[in-house]
Amino acid sequence: MTRGQLQHLPPSGWRAPWYAYPQQATGERSAVVIGAGIAGASIARSLANRGWQVTVLDRHPRAAQEASGNPQGVLYTKLSPHFTLLTQLVLSGYGYTLRTLHQLLPEDGVQWRRCGVLQLAGDAAEEKRQQGLAAAGLSPHILRRVDAAEASALAGVELAQGGLYFEQGGWLNPPSLVNKLLDHPNITLRLGDAVTELAQNPADGGWVAMGSDGPLAIGSIAVVATANDTMQFDPTYYLPVKRIRGQVTELAATSDSKALQTVLCGEGYITPVRRDRHCLGATFKFEYEDLETNDTEHAENLAMLAGLAPRLYQALGGERIDPAQCHGRAALRCTSPDYLPMVGAIVDRDAFLDCYQPLARDASLKLSAEAPLIRGCTSAPPTARAAWSPRRWPAKSSPAC
Ligand SMILES: Cc1cc2nc3c(=O)[nH]c(=O)nc-3n(C[C@H](O)[C@H](O)[C@H](O)COP(=O)(O)OP(=O)(O)OC[C@H]3O[C@@H](n4cnc5c(N)ncnc54)[C@H](O)[C@@H]3O)c2cc1C
Repeated sequence: MTRGQLQHLPPSGWRAPWYAYPQQATGERSAVVIGAGIAGASIARSLANRGWQVTVLDRHPRAAQEASGNPQGVLYTKLSPHFTLLTQLVLSGYGYTLRTLHQLLPEDGVQWRRCGVLQLAGDAAEEKRQQGLAAAGLSPHILRRVDAAEASALAGVELAQGGLYFEQGGWLNPPSLVNKLLDHPNITLRLGDAVTELAQNPADGGWVAMGSDGPLAIGSIAVVATANDTMQFDPTYYLPVKRIRGQVTELAATSDSKALQTVLCGEGYITPVRRDRHCLGATFKFEYEDLETNDTEHAENLAMLAGLAPRLYQALGGERIDPAQCHGRAALRCTSPDYLPMVGAIVDRDAFLDCYQPLARDASLKLSAEAPLIRGCTSAPPTARAAWSPRRWPAKSSPAC
């Protein structure tokens, strides 16, 4: 991809003030990060690498126990043939993640594997989309089209269709990465206590994360990386997030299924073996929020596999696989209404609406007022309740951490 193919922001002139970065923090550099999933761990590590003292809090006794707790997650990038800023962001994120993995984690087939990802073209519409993407001028090291014969050779199992091959993609055991990211001398991990309130000290603008028994941690900034639970905190109550339940199924590998060399994706995915198991999934359920696995969704995952790679499905047992005997895991995804990532400084919602209210009458106005940010509060997940009002500063000012 050339720079010219990317749609850039206008080089000069008016810029929407609500996209401006907040002022750099000065003085004490301490952060409270709530949430020890992949988002919280990544941010904590990034701050720690820059010399910040970070306290990471999570309600579970171990890190990565919710959406980031699956045995194998697929690592690839979902692109569109239109080279927009989103494309640039997605590609940058993909490259950054791969570099981070190479630097931090041994590629040992337990923590992660750069085995390549085949995105199979399931129908004519997907075929057309893939053709557009393949013709868009991306490096073949990022993706290239392969026919059914080459796809079968790469995958090590017979496939009836070709697709896009992401040679640098693969799978990752997310808890391995999360734990490695959190392993840094500047990071203090405090597990097993839920944060019930996030409050700001009106005197110095610092933050305190409160638990049911009192303060858990303080910092000059606070980062909310609590996925769907972001709505429970006053500063971030209004962020529009949506829960989507997903279930993965784990299947015991067979001597034939162990031939699978790459991740296969279509409507769902199946991974090469890790610890004698393949992971397939994942279901999308908007109407349920429970975390119990169920036979129905195991059956859906099996049906997905039967369509994606019939030979592999047979190699794993085919119709003889009983969904009621399957094991797996269910968790909640956290998404924004437009499925775009949500990250950055948090605004005071009511003041923000007042500030930019003239846009409701004329969206072409070039307003210049700075966005009313809540000093020192950042959200990382895509993620709400009653109106934000600064709460009391807790009587106990020294956290028990
Ligand atoms: C079934 C399934 C399959 C998926 N497959 C893939 C895949 O193949 N590839 C891919 O890229 N992505 C995949 N995803 C999405 C990916 O897993 C998530 O996007 C990612 O893990 C989100 O990380 P997170 O840190 O934002 O959230 P989480 O991992 O959910 O972390 C949030 C953390 O905040 C903590 N927390 C919340 N409230 C509080 C509180 N009040 N006090 C203290 N702690 C709190 C929670 O305990 C949790 O640890 C999948 C998701 C699911 C559910």
